[in-house]
Amino acid sequence: MNLPWMAYRTFERKKDDPVFFSITKKIMEKLKLIKIPTERASFCHKEVDDSLTLLMKEPLVSDSVSCKKGCAYCCHTQVSVTEDETQLLIEKGIHHLVKKENIQLLKLQKNAANSGEKWLQLPYGLRKCLFLGDDNSCQIYMHRPLVCRTNLVIGNPNQCSTIDGSEKPLRSLNTFKADMITMGAFLHSKENGAMPYMLYKVLNGTNKTIAQRRENLLQP
Ligand code: SF4
Repeated sequence: MNLPWMAYRTFERKKDDPVFFSITKKIMEKLKLIKIPTERASFCHKEVDDSLTLLMKEPLVSDSVSCKKGCAYCCHTQVSVTEDETQLLIEKGIHHLVKKENIQLLKLQKNAANSGEKWLQLPYGLRKCLFLGDDNSCQIYMHRPLVCRTNLVIGNPNQCSTIDGSEKPLRSLNTFKADMITMGAFLHSKENGAMPYMLYKVLNGTNKTIAQRRENLLQP
């Protein structure tokens, strides 16, 4: 199981606190009742958004976050996704995935996915998320993964840059509730992993609809 490290770190700190553990548990229970994968993903996205909206109501908190549209350093790092999020990304982002340049990028990235070292060895431009537009904005913003929603940095955004192939120590906002929700989604999911790996795996799956998409996607 490939868990997002910031959410996992919070979970390890908070899992013995019944108030926090109940957040993860409730999410897992609710996910069992939702039968459609894309709906499960959207449910978790809304839960995280609601918790972050509440957090951002405090001006001291919102003023300290330096993330803004067009700053896309984190969109060149590895993003972990659940199975449900993978389905949602394919459903909402298939028109980006079928672009010839993105098919080539997907093949290249999936070989380096799930290894931080191999990932950072890729040239910076080849680490770009498949859904990042030419204007450095997310093309599937409404449906972006949980990890993209909770990754909020405090301080100088240049610290987020991995252009030189190394990751720097970062100060990020404590998003405890959102992290516990995220862990509920990941613990419920049978398989998780780096986005290019998960996308490639599903697009190569045996499901008929997905197989048809694969035909389109993976033709030389
Ligand atoms: S899904 Fe959107 S926000 Fe997340 S890494 Fe990709 S471009 Fe960035």
